[in-house]
Amino acid sequence: MTSSPFPLSPGATIGILGGGQLGRMLALAAARLGFDVVILTPEADAPASRVAAHTVLAPYNDATALADLARRCAVVTFEFENVPAEVVAALHGLGVPTAPSDLALATAQDRVTEKTFFRDQGIATVDFVAIDSADDIVAGLARLGAPALLKTRREGYDGKGQAWIATPDEAQAAFERLGGAPMILEARAPFVRELSIIAARAQDGSVAAYPLTENTHKDGVLRVSVAPAHAKASTHAAASALARTTLERLGYVGVAGIELFELANGDLLVNEFAPRVHNSGHWTLDACEVDQFEQHIRAIVGWPLGPTEPFAQARMENLLGADVDDWATLAAEPGARLWLYGKRETVTGRKMGHVTRLSALR
Ligand code: AMP
Repeated sequence: MTSSPFPLSPGATIGILGGGQLGRMLALAAARLGFDVVILTPEADAPASRVAAHTVLAPYNDATALADLARRCAVVTFEFENVPAEVVAALHGLGVPTAPSDLALATAQDRVTEKTFFRDQGIATVDFVAIDSADDIVAGLARLGAPALLKTRREGYDGKGQAWIATPDEAQAAFERLGGAPMILEARAPFVRELSIIAARAQDGSVAAYPLTENTHKDGVLRVSVAPAHAKASTHAAASALARTTLERLGYVGVAGIELFELANGDLLVNEFAPRVHNSGHWTLDACEVDQFEQHIRAIVGWPLGPTEPFAQARMENLLGADVDDWATLAAEPGARLWLYGKRETVTGRKMGHVTRLSALR
């Protein structure tokens, strides 16, 4: 029997699948703890590559590249949930530990599998039906009530691949517009607020959650996160409990983000689960001793989790597209904590950076 390589010592190399801003901030956190990072990404000059020790530039499913990554790394993680789950399984098969597991990734990648998982754990979600045809939409609308939200089962994010259906005669056109792929039809969640909870599970099974975050979206994209969210103690407790159940049942290792709808009576519905660090947890960079990125690195290298209590109230605002042109003003603003992702091209709606402002805990 080979002994466990964990906890990894500083100096070990961590692989990250994906080269975006989440990978960049994970790489910075890893470097702070003395680890080297190798990025696998198909994108040349990616934001994460520019702060990492090495990049393997290849498609995620390139067998030679995966073998190279496995040889270089003591553990591999991912920052992007559309990495094929088979790639994570293949790395595991090559003998390199992976965290989170391909099971967690596969569960989150399909909205029907994901919601079925939550329902099986007794965790509330909106009502839903799986959709394979326009006729299924008509039947689903009769069951769920109108309007209902049609989403692709896979590869949707930031409100992409979604359409509200108000009447049965919209079914055919919406089915075609979303590409005829397998879909889910969801009942409309009558939420008063959108919240999220960022939680981590370590290799020893211990779980730590940050306090609830309140999120405001525009055009399906996160704009502002405020944390800790002002909510009833019972709502905070319910969120922590469902996060713990989720991570434990998946045997999860690492940080995850769970997006929630809060109903008028304080009850929570899970919207979705991100098996990675999450945009709504960026405030932890500036308001917590151990932020979500360091927490994820700690979890996957077998270190103890750090504290999750914030020392300040935080308001994080995403800099989308041309918002980033205000960098000089933000840099001159006392107390504005600026994070820029080093993206070469400004595109409308693209996440270019974020700014966090702290105030006294309420
Ligand atoms: P998603 O891609 O599932 O995160 O959805 C993007 C946004 O659409 C969410 O943040 C909500 O604002 C909204 N949304 C998603 N699902 C529902 C639903 N079932 N009912 C009402 N609004 C929803």
